[in-house]
Amino acid sequence: MSHHRDTRLIHAGTPPFSQGHGPVNVPVVRASTVRFESAAAYDDIRERHARGERVSAYGRQGMETHRALEDAIAALEGGDRTFLVPSGLAAISLTFVALLSPGDHALVVDSVYAPVRRLEQTLLRRLGIEVSYFSPGRDDVAALIRPNTKLLYLESPSSLLYEVLDLPRLAQIAHRHGVVVAADNTWASGHVLQPLALGVDVSILAATKYISGHSDLMQGALVVRDAALVRRLADAYDGFGLAIGADDAYLALRGIRTLAVRLAQHQRNALAVAHYLEAHAAVGRVFYPALPSDPGHALWLRDFSGANGLVSFSLPGADAAGARKLVDSLRLFGLGASWGGYESLVQVAAPERLAEHSYWRGTEPVIRLHIGLEAADDLIADLEQGLAALPQRRAAA
Ligand SMILES: *Cc1c(COP(=O)(O)O)cnc(C)c1O
Repeated sequence: MSHHRDTRLIHAGTPPFSQGHGPVNVPVVRASTVRFESAAAYDDIRERHARGERVSAYGRQGMETHRALEDAIAALEGGDRTFLVPSGLAAISLTFVALLSPGDHALVVDSVYAPVRRLEQTLLRRLGIEVSYFSPGRDDVAALIRPNTKLLYLESPSSLLYEVLDLPRLAQIAHRHGVVVAADNTWASGHVLQPLALGVDVSILAATKYISGHSDLMQGALVVRDAALVRRLADAYDGFGLAIGADDAYLALRGIRTLAVRLAQHQRNALAVAHYLEAHAAVGRVFYPALPSDPGHALWLRDFSGANGLVSFSLPGADAAGARKLVDSLRLFGLGASWGGYESLVQVAAPERLAEHSYWRGTEPVIRLHIGLEAADDLIADLEQGLAALPQRRAAA
C-alpha cells in the first residue's frame, strides 16, 4: 500500500522490535569501531560494503540512527539512496566534485545560493572545472550546453527572490544531451517538492533548515535513484570520509516527524504576511511563489504541494540606511543568517548578491524575512511599527 507522504514521514525509519518490544524512536548509536562475531562475519560485511550496500564495517559508514534518517529522507524525496553530510554546502560541493572532472563544464542557474559561486571561483577553478551561469527567463539552455557539459545545477525556488524554475523542462533538455541534473531542494525541504519525480537526478538538501527545524543543527543530504549515480557519489563520499554524528542524525530524525505540520504553519503565517506587505504603501515587490501576483505562481501551483516561511520584499522609497533601520526596529524578528527554525528572522539581502540574479533588475533595497511559528498577527503588528518608522525618501518634485 502506498501511503501519503505525511504518513510515510511518521513511520519511516521506525526501529524493529527486539524480543517483542522496543522504543518508538531509534536509539542514538554512537560508534567508531564495530565488533564482529567472527572473521567470516567481518569479511561478509566488508564485501557487502564494497559492493555499495548500506552496511557498517566501521563507524564512518554510520550506524542504525544514520540508517533510520537515510530511510526517512529517502521516503521524503522518493529516492533510493541518501548520503548524509555535515552541512548543506558539503552536499553541494560533493555533488560538483563527484560528478565533474578537470576539463568538464557545469551550467548553473544565476540565482543560485551564493556560496556556490565561491566554490566555483576557488576549488572548482583550481581543479580545472569550468562553470557558467544562465538565466532561466532569458537564456536558451539547450544552446548553452557544450560538448564537455556534464552537469546542470539548479535551485528552485532559488535563493533570496525565489525564482521558480521549470524543472521538468530543464531536466528534459539536459537529458537529451546526456547531462546529469542536480537541484537544491532546500526551499521545499523534500516535503513540498519531489525533484526526482520531475526528472532531476540528484536532489540536495540543507537539513540545517526545516528538516532540523530548531536552529540547532548543521546537516546536509543528497538523494538519488540511479544506480550508476549512487556508485559515483558513494566513491567520492567514502573518499572524503564525510561522517556525521549519531546525535545529529537523531536530532534531524526528530525534526522530520513534525516537518509537515511546521511547514504548513510557516506557509499560513508567511502568506498572511505576504498579503499584508503587498497592500502596504512603502512596499514594492513581494517575492513569495504562493502569492498569486508572483511571476512563479503558475509553475509553483503546477509542481509544488506547498510553500514555506521565506518572504522577501523591496522598499522602493528607502535607501540602504532605511532598510537597516527597519531591520533594527523589528522586535520579534531576529537578525541572523540561515532560516528554517521555528523563529522569525530578518536580513537585508546583500545588493551584490541580487546583482548576480537576472530574475529581477530593481535597485531598491530588499528585505528577506523568515516567517516563524509565532502568531501571524503579532508578526504583522511588528512589521507595521517598523514600516511606520521608516523614513520616506522624498520624491523629487
Ligand atoms: C542554507 C542553504 C544551503 C547551505 O546549507 P548549510 O547547511 O548552511 O551549509 C544550501 N542551499 C540553500 C538553498 C540554502 O538556503
